[in-house]
Amino acid sequence: MKIALTFDIERDIPYVLDTYFGVKVGIPKILELLENFNLKGTFFCTGSIAKKFPEYIRSIEHKGHEIACHGLNHERLNKLTFNECQELIASNKKIIEETCQKSEIIGFRAPYLKPPNFLFAILHKLGFKYDSSIKSRNRTKFNKTNYYKIQEFTPLNISLRFSIGYFFLKNWILKNKIIVLYFHPLEIINAKNLMLTQKSRLNLFRDYLLRPDRWIKTGETFVTRMNRLIKFALSKKGEFVTLKDLIND
Ligand SMILES: [Zn+2]
Repeated sequence: MKIALTFDIERDIPYVLDTYFGVKVGIPKILELLENFNLKGTFFCTGSIAKKFPEYIRSIEHKGHEIACHGLNHERLNKLTFNECQELIASNKKIIEETCQKSEIIGFRAPYLKPPNFLFAILHKLGFKYDSSIKSRNRTKFNKTNYYKIQEFTPLNISLRFSIGYFFLKNWILKNKIIVLYFHPLEIINAKNLMLTQKSRLNLFRDYLLRPDRWIKTGETFVTRMNRLIKFALSKKGEFVTLKDLIND
């Protein structure tokens, strides 16, 4: 089986927090974890992060990982018109290409995994080769509109931080040929402590208590489970790849 570890690089919990700990603290930790196993991952970056922190994005590229696009400022693309989307994705791609001059940028993931129906037409026009935004339950709908030969790598939206998710992922790895796992650098940090230090910016009920998925078992549990899952996959002869590797196969 082939496993792609993918990470979305954006502002911490977009439109909730206004901080960048995921980039400044999370990315170096993720890179270290991947380096310990000598694995390459795929990093979907917003244009605004590449503009604000080009050195972090270049350090990812420099270590041989794949850089892909994730919107300009993490917009909800399914609420926008064709032209608005095209403009945002085009400037996202341009900024990423100017930041990472050694890489060909061919992949896209819609913020919140909420692509507009016409996404593939835009990706084709802008020279992308694959997308990784379509949830499995929506695949049939999008397959019908994919006249553009954009390859879809459906991300598995299940968190290894929760015991049941971890158990499910282990089984999934054994049963599938291609698995696209999906993480945020903030998960490798203790997001609970971080959010509580940002109390003044939060609506504690709406942004924190109602959304425990944002912070429960981040930090230590995430690191332990991630290490364990990688070791498990390697022991079952799993091969870790970037999404670009799968296109070139
Ligand atoms: Zn995102």
